[in-house]
Amino acid sequence: MDLLQILEHNAKKKLSECTNEEIYFTILKTIQKLSEERLSKDKPKKKLYYISAEFLIGKLLSNNLINLGIYDEVKEILSNNGKNLSEIEDIELEPSLGNGGLGRLAACFLDSIATLGIPGDGIGLNYHFGLFKQIFKNNLQTEEKNEWIENIGWLNKTDTTYEIEFNGFKLNSRMYDINITGYKNITNKLHLFDVETVDESIVESGINFDKTNVNKNLTLFLYPDDSDVEGRLLRIYQQYFMVSNAAKYILDECIEKGSNLYDLYDYAVIQINDTHPTMVIPELIRLLVDKGIDINDAIEIVSKTCAYTNHTILAEALEKWPADYIEKVAPQIMPIIKELDKIVKSKYEDESVYIIDSDNIVHMANIDIHYSFSVNGVASLHTDILKNNELNNFYKIYPEKFNNKTNGITFRRWLMHCNPLLTNLIENLIGDDFKQDAEKLQNLKKYIDDEDVLKNILDIKKENKIILKNYIKKVQNIDIDENSIFDIQIKRLHEYKRQQMNALYIIHKYLKIKNGDLPTTPITVIFGAKAAPAYTIAKDIIHLILCLQELINNDEDVNKYLKVVMVENYNVTAAEKLIPACDISEQISLASKEASGTGNMKFMLNGALTLGTEDGANVEIHSLVGDDNIFIFGEKSNKVIELYEKCEYDPLDFYIKDKEIKDALDFIVGDKLMKIGNQENLIRLYKEMMKKDWFMTLLDFKEYCKMKDKAFKEYENRYKWAKKMLINISNAGYFSSDRTINQYNEDIWNLK
Ligand SMILES: *Cc1c(COP(=O)(O)O)cnc(C)c1O
Repeated sequence: MDLLQILEHNAKKKLSECTNEEIYFTILKTIQKLSEERLSKDKPKKKLYYISAEFLIGKLLSNNLINLGIYDEVKEILSNNGKNLSEIEDIELEPSLGNGGLGRLAACFLDSIATLGIPGDGIGLNYHFGLFKQIFKNNLQTEEKNEWIENIGWLNKTDTTYEIEFNGFKLNSRMYDINITGYKNITNKLHLFDVETVDESIVESGINFDKTNVNKNLTLFLYPDDSDVEGRLLRIYQQYFMVSNAAKYILDECIEKGSNLYDLYDYAVIQINDTHPTMVIPELIRLLVDKGIDINDAIEIVSKTCAYTNHTILAEALEKWPADYIEKVAPQIMPIIKELDKIVKSKYEDESVYIIDSDNIVHMANIDIHYSFSVNGVASLHTDILKNNELNNFYKIYPEKFNNKTNGITFRRWLMHCNPLLTNLIENLIGDDFKQDAEKLQNLKKYIDDEDVLKNILDIKKENKIILKNYIKKVQNIDIDENSIFDIQIKRLHEYKRQQMNALYIIHKYLKIKNGDLPTTPITVIFGAKAAPAYTIAKDIIHLILCLQELINNDEDVNKYLKVVMVENYNVTAAEKLIPACDISEQISLASKEASGTGNMKFMLNGALTLGTEDGANVEIHSLVGDDNIFIFGEKSNKVIELYEKCEYDPLDFYIKDKEIKDALDFIVGDKLMKIGNQENLIRLYKEMMKKDWFMTLLDFKEYCKMKDKAFKEYENRYKWAKKMLINISNAGYFSSDRTINQYNEDIWNLK
């Protein structure tokens, strides 16, 4: 049967007679069948299990069509029948299983693992409402539940169920699977565990629900508010539920394949994505001991099976749980954790490497570092900081465990799917090898002086800007000008990422324009960011940006030269529209704080130039493209770390000394914004930035303004700019997650 026949067979009628919705479900069904055919038939002996609290996978329809190699064909069949694939894509709801970069990384990894034909499954939780849906009301973020599960969708119910034990009660779990099709290669699985008794109806208004009703709420939300004890306990319930299911599933699979459990590491390698799945270590040990294995043997077996990825050096993000909480949720693993701690304490005097500290708090990362065989950072600067500063005490004990794996992104989604125009141009110039061998993008360099190619690149950018303009008009009813510079900062809202610095620049520019100092080319500053519901200052920053949007876009003197757009509910789908249209990629975190960043890589690949600090993978982007093709500013990480150590930074010094800084900051609480916004939010943010400014915005502000203005100036020379774009694109191959996964496999997993 040809594809049209298959589709019409699945639809049970002519395509031309189907509604878009019927076509969506028909394609979905077709994809499900085709991807099942690619599951490996003979079970490989050793397999990777990538455990993560988040998998920010994005919509799957087009991505699957691309990976199955039938995207163009389906698109053509549809158009021959009067249908439009992109309208059909709109019907799909984006799975809400992740929060930001960490979850998106897990998704890119699953794509690359399957693409490289490596046997590896993801394991996580099936959150019914996932991360909240962001809605702006009165220039404030509000949160709603994000419904994404449909009766017919990508989730496949399995027969795998377990009984998970908690303190005094048990919950039944069930595994749901999503097929992960590799690009022209095998299908792997993402296993998502759910509680059978989950009850969506307990959610009240917004995202409020009874946090104590664990049998009903356990898999409702990702990262439930943990500002109270109930919320913190719920997170531990979720984590234990995730890892207990994972451990049971992994042991069952290995036993079925012939493992006697003493050789577990010949059958399984477990990658622990950040500290959320840490309890898989004590849980596996517990299960092995239950099966009669001596505890010391069990500890050794598990340590040889597990590897840990560190994603942050932010102290507040390194998880610590009171031992009492774990005792309350899953008392059966506390004796194991105590035993692991006892062994550490018997060997080392340095209290900073203890698992349980003198306040009876369990340091999750410390379990991972002592009891796994590999500890990796996610960009070369990040790994250096781990070795030399943050985890130096551990590095001295285990130098051989530490290694770097610079993050990557899948080019199938972040180039082929999101930017078909650029993909097509590249293909016409250098063939399509780059789709599986990203380093082939280097071949684009031979066109560096080819004016036709450079013009094509500029035309494609313009085209993508028009597509974004129309999207923003449609979803937010804001008009923007495709001939303006698109300056974009999209990422979770966090003070260390410094959206507030970008906002201060907007104020600074607004004041200049009011003074008659006009930009040559108009500027459109675009943001997208969700703030954690309990993160007050982050929400205040969103408020400031939304107030600036209202003020500036309605000011006839200014809006010809400057506009501000904050995209509502930033997610993968929005990112796919924003990134191809970007001219300037804002990567302005305080040096040393952004472990890697992956947004920076997506932008580079799509021909945006980075305006950024020497932080995370920006450092590697900088060294690949050279000084002339990136805009780097700000204090270096060494200096920043020193400022923290000596407590030497005081934002007031900058406020007092510099008139421009003072004017920009004072504007936050000036008449104009106070009329639009809320006093409470604006004053709180003002005080925070002037008195505390923990992430040193004012330290870098002047250099930021200078470098940003330099970028705007260089934008004027369109051909020179196009060359810079081409150099960025042709050097982006290093950031393919295929490269990252090959390195994980060679250095850590040793599969195939
Ligand atoms: C890539 C991506 C991120 C990570 O962005 P950073 O700039 O690296 O923080 C977050 N959210 C979404 C939706 C993404 O696609």
